[in-house]
Amino acid sequence: MIDTPPDAEDRRQIAPVICYPNETLPDFGVAGLRAQADDMPSVAKVTVPPRDAATFDVPAGGVFRISCPDGSQVGDLNLWNAHDLSERFFSGKTRALHGTHVTTGCALWSNLPFLRPMAVVIDDSLEWYGQDAFGGRVHDVIGTRCDPYTHHLLNGQDYHYCCHSNLTRALADARGLRLADAEPHIHDVLNVFMCTGFSRDTGQYFMKASPARSGDQITFFAQIDLLGALSACPGGDCSTTHSSDVATCHPLLVEVFAPARPVPPVPLNGYDRSHGR
Ligand SMILES: [Zn+2]
Repeated sequence: MIDTPPDAEDRRQIAPVICYPNETLPDFGVAGLRAQADDMPSVAKVTVPPRDAATFDVPAGGVFRISCPDGSQVGDLNLWNAHDLSERFFSGKTRALHGTHVTTGCALWSNLPFLRPMAVVIDDSLEWYGQDAFGGRVHDVIGTRCDPYTHHLLNGQDYHYCCHSNLTRALADARGLRLADAEPHIHDVLNVFMCTGFSRDTGQYFMKASPARSGDQITFFAQIDLLGALSACPGGDCSTTHSSDVATCHPLLVEVFAPARPVPPVPLNGYDRSHGR
């Protein structure tokens, strides 16, 4: 048994400081990006079937919109540089920079050593949700993705249509890779439409029924040429369970819009990479 020190309450009362004040991040100019998006023609519509995933390409300067046309449905999103799969979405640093959940004005950042904005959220029909009484918010970058390994660990069963497996199959098909070669490219996701938080008593990751309804959408402006993969989670609206065929699931729709002329990608991070040598 560890004794509580006499100044325990004093230590707890120390005020926190924000780890990464983000006032110096680039101004993405959301209003200007929205104006550009308004003029772009739709170039592709990709339907993601329930308990499956699909891929889509978005050019730099283009836009993609994810919606749930037939009912509430959570989506697990992966993003890569379309020309280099080693550059991919970095949910951890996105979380550190913007908070546990993203909405209009937040960027999705790529991993080190690239660390540049891959896409910027320019519209979110669930922005009104804010934070509920349980501490839940929408579109999280705190979860990982449902996967068959954790499911096996906790339940001793094999389930093949977790988001991790769905994304693996979709990437393998899109790039002509063997499953074993595609799988290491799958990474922690943006949980689109998912309502999540951490429980106040135990600090555990929780989910609750998504507030998304038919027609809700979140729209992104691509800052580099992107390959995206989206899984329609087997948890459906994630109100009860996942990693099984129990929950009611719906398709997701990805609509892609492209600019009339090619747009250069945003530059790589400016750090010189000398690491002190
Ligand atoms: Zn999932």
